Amino acid sequence: MVDRPSGTQRYLKGVTLGEGTYGVVYKALDSQTNRTVAVKKIRLGKYKEGVHVTALREIKLLRELKDPNIIEMIDVYPHKRNLHLVFEFMESDLEAVIRDRNIVLSAADIKSYMQMTLKGLAHCHKKWVLHRDLKPNNLLIASDGQLKLGDFGLARIFGSPDRQFTHQVFARWYRAPELLFGSKQYGAGVDIWAAACIFAELMLRRPFLQGSSDIDQLGKIFAAFGTPRESQWPDMTCLPDYVEFQFCPAPPLRSLFPMATDDALDLLSRMLAFDPRSRITAQQALEHRYFHSEPAATRPELLSRPPSRSEGQPKPSEAPSSGGPIVLSPPNKSRRVMLPPGVVSGDVHSGQLEKGYMTMGETPNEHFGLPMSTDTQMLLRPKLNSTDRSHLKRKLDMDSAFA
Ligand code: ADP
Repeated sequence: MVDRPSGTQRYLKGVTLGEGTYGVVYKALDSQTNRTVAVKKIRLGKYKEGVHVTALREIKLLRELKDPNIIEMIDVYPHKRNLHLVFEFMESDLEAVIRDRNIVLSAADIKSYMQMTLKGLAHCHKKWVLHRDLKPNNLLIASDGQLKLGDFGLARIFGSPDRQFTHQVFARWYRAPELLFGSKQYGAGVDIWAAACIFAELMLRRPFLQGSSDIDQLGKIFAAFGTPRESQWPDMTCLPDYVEFQFCPAPPLRSLFPMATDDALDLLSRMLAFDPRSRITAQQALEHRYFHSEPAATRPELLSRPPSRSEGQPKPSEAPSSGGPIVLSPPNKSRRVMLPPGVVSGDVHSGQLEKGYMTMGETPNEHFGLPMSTDTQMLLRPKLNSTDRSHLKRKLDMDSAFA
């Protein structure tokens, strides 16, 4: 009988690609197939039970999810106190594409990235799996231009009606409002919301709604799309962390995305429906006329790509230092902002609001020289009674603990 080489013998370790939530990811050569792979080394010892569960979940899900738009997990092996997950090597990710100023993203390119993202999601959702952590840096890009959903560390099979999910898992900027209000029984809509934020980010070339806390994130969402009325989202007031926000009317979506086509805006607005039950599904989104109208989606192999990771490109930081809005006032002061009637987001720059009581963003369009939205960084004031206030204080304490 021929002995199978152990993982450490089979995969010849190369350079480090990055540090993830649970450990280092490095490049390796599969000596059996001569294929370049990425090995994610998960430190089991340090995190004990939690990481065992996460890692096992990741393995199980990835093995079940086979699709051209989902990253392939090739192997898994333990070594010392670590678990090694072996993935197909991916040259880049969507975050690097969005940040690369040398790349022009045409309407057809954006359509292509969205189509691939939604195809991957539709597959996951068909198999009753939520991704739950969608953000541009875990949309990985292969050498043939295919986008693949990666990093399933937080995903979990859903479908059991009484399953309670932890809700503090989503990257805040991509987090759906039901998660921000503490919903524990959420569904595929959380991934659709995140995909919509990525859609917006592809158009704007910067993260769309960059909240600095959960409450701040909700404020930014409501400033951009209007505070939801009960008729729009009947269950909202029953959510565990619900706080009432001052009513703010929605500015026209077109004012935030001046270059987008009507079809793109229509799809975006359906993906951003407040009530998760009204939110479009991944499959319905793929059937939306946006994907059937001109311009046709760019073929993946024709998409421009940033330099490959193997060419030593540094990873862009999560909060782009030169691109994102700068918070000038302390967050607690920002929360005291009352929007004067009739003031819409574009007025932020005209100095109508009291200095020190608002969150200022960058001047639109100044960073990338690309079409960007008017600024939506104003905050809305939640209306609070004393119970809400203590609740909010707890939430803010939690937020700062997570920061
Ligand atoms: P996180 O847990 O923060 O989402 P990961 O552990 O998935 O991050 O990955 C850390 C870094 O390793 C990524 O940002 C990326 O640069 C790199 N990486 C992850 N997976 C791959 C892959 N399949 N191919 C190439 N590089 C990868």
